[in-house]
Amino acid sequence: MGATTGIKWTDSTYNSWWGCTKVGPACDDCYAEGTDKRAGGGHWGHGAERRLLSEKARNEPFRWQRQADAFEAEYARRRRVFTLSMGDLFDNEVPSRWRSDHMHTMEMCDRLDWQVCTKRVSNLSKMSLPGWKKGGWPKHIGVLVTVVTQKEAERDLPRLLDLKTAYNIPWVGVSNEPAQEWIDWSPFLDWTVYGTALDWLIFGGKSGGNWKDRPFSLDWAREARQQCTFFGTAFFFKQVAAFRPTDDMIPADLLVRQCPLGGRA
Ligand code: SF4
Repeated sequence: MGATTGIKWTDSTYNSWWGCTKVGPACDDCYAEGTDKRAGGGHWGHGAERRLLSEKARNEPFRWQRQADAFEAEYARRRRVFTLSMGDLFDNEVPSRWRSDHMHTMEMCDRLDWQVCTKRVSNLSKMSLPGWKKGGWPKHIGVLVTVVTQKEAERDLPRLLDLKTAYNIPWVGVSNEPAQEWIDWSPFLDWTVYGTALDWLIFGGKSGGNWKDRPFSLDWAREARQQCTFFGTAFFFKQVAAFRPTDDMIPADLLVRQCPLGGRA
């Protein structure tokens, strides 16, 4: 967690707790679990108690909110905050009080553009604050779902698009990381299919010591980028598959880093 991060599509990360349970193929080499293990561990898996962070850490967004004028003067845009990077906002095993406090913090810090990233979109409806579901979804909070297989896309993206319409979520997107097979995104980018569409697609290859364990092709990214261009969706190429990916490994035609609502990285 921190005011700065190496994750290219955001400015800062925010966690009020650590801990999670693996729920799909994108969780296999969860970097957050590795970070937790290095700090003593014990907060991953069914039945493992999650770790509530200190009050000072939990209040960090209020500091960023107070600094919003200076941030916007420097970057000519609002600060983007990814949450949670060390767990999942819609984790069933998190005490509901922690989650509601976390959501109230997000709601109050309205000078920040929040990027909720979840692998549990099916819990969003039952776990979001009641006011958000009754026409009050905050306009500074968007939702990203991680999808790495065609099967997950077909299961989760229709749900996400239904929620976008039902709660008037300002933008929704998909994080395709680590990319490991070709996925046809077109039904979810085309407004005529579900009455609304994804606003953002982030593509990224696997990194770290096991980066060769999964198939990877830059052609998947090229095709996804073409589909996004055709339907007017923001596309963001995060990284190639490599042990330590760097921007100079990205082919020039794929170095595209757009953000939803017309923003650029
Ligand atoms: S949902 Fe995210 S934090 Fe939780 S185990 Fe999977 S990759 Fe890790």
